[in-house]
Amino acid sequence: MLRDSFGRVATDLRVSLTDKCNLRCTYCMPPEGLDWLPNAQLLTADEIVRLVTIGVERLGITEVRYTGGEPLIRRELADIVARTTALRPKPQVSLTTNGIGLARLAGALAEAGLDRVNVSLDTLDPDTFKRLAHRDRHADVVAGLAAAAEAGLRPVKVNAVLMRGFNDHEAVPLLRWCLDQGYELRFIEQMPLDAQHGWTREGMVTADEILERLSTAFDLTPDDPKARGSAPAERFLVDGGPARVGVIGSVTRPFCGSCDRVRLTADGQVRNCLFATEESDLKTAMRDGASDEELAERWKAAVARKRAGHGIDDPSFLQPSRPMSAIGG
Ligand code: SAM
Ligand code: SF4
Repeated sequence: MLRDSFGRVATDLRVSLTDKCNLRCTYCMPPEGLDWLPNAQLLTADEIVRLVTIGVERLGITEVRYTGGEPLIRRELADIVARTTALRPKPQVSLTTNGIGLARLAGALAEAGLDRVNVSLDTLDPDTFKRLAHRDRHADVVAGLAAAAEAGLRPVKVNAVLMRGFNDHEAVPLLRWCLDQGYELRFIEQMPLDAQHGWTREGMVTADEILERLSTAFDLTPDDPKARGSAPAERFLVDGGPARVGVIGSVTRPFCGSCDRVRLTADGQVRNCLFATEESDLKTAMRDGASDEELAERWKAAVARKRAGHGIDDPSFLQPSRPMSAIGG
């Protein structure tokens, strides 16, 4: 098992398939993009599947989420998903995507055994989308969402980040639209993980503010806390249910105490936290001929060192040098 010194056990593996992306969301990366990792440094599909297999068969991983950068950019995605869903014990396999290209790929991904998708959509307005993501692709995302639902990748979840001066007036309309479409919306507080280090505490729209805005239009009642488990989202029944909305207060309502996540970057580094400043290099060990047993031991040691919390409120907090798109959000 992947146990840390505070007794937490990591069972949920987030794998970044690439650091590249076809959008430039303001809270994530600069308009001109970033220096992408050289291809030779990216794990190959076989290397990804080998590490995921070690995680599932030897280390107690029960959930695998493919993310990025933009995972749909990776041509071998359906193959990687099929090989993951064939593992035993079968993990839950999901995808976090910006939805561009999902209209074309949702059927193949469902056939490969993908269980669920989270699609990021921050606005209902194509112009606001263009301002926020620096690309005119709103319609593609909306079509991708519809295709995911059609392909049976339900419940379809929508992730939204609110930014002051961009889309912070859209909490209520976004929820209303998601309810109409049958999607489950989750708001995520903006975290200090953008490549350009533009995050400020004052600029962040907090979980309290989001709930206040939603409460002007909807009756929100906290969902059964037992149903939350280690999930980061606090969930609320909307107008008595059964529809729900989630709020992930990563900064102001941290859930580090029940965190069950571990991350693998696109270049094969284990990170025990989004905000970790240290990584453990499985790729080089693997390419130097390490056995599955040796890789599992390195992975266990990396998780054992996990800190108690992200420490954003601590004066000594340092933003990790890698941005969210390289870590895998
Ligand atoms: N490209 C895919 C997407 O956008 O869904 C997957 C990668 S993205 C890094 C994963 C999630 O992280 C998205 O829902 C995105 O909105 C969120 N995200 C990115 N930067 C963030 C930040 N600084 N604070 C909070 N959430 C962020
Ligand atoms: Fe790309 Fe996702 Fe980052 Fe937006 S949040 S720039 S879609 S990786």
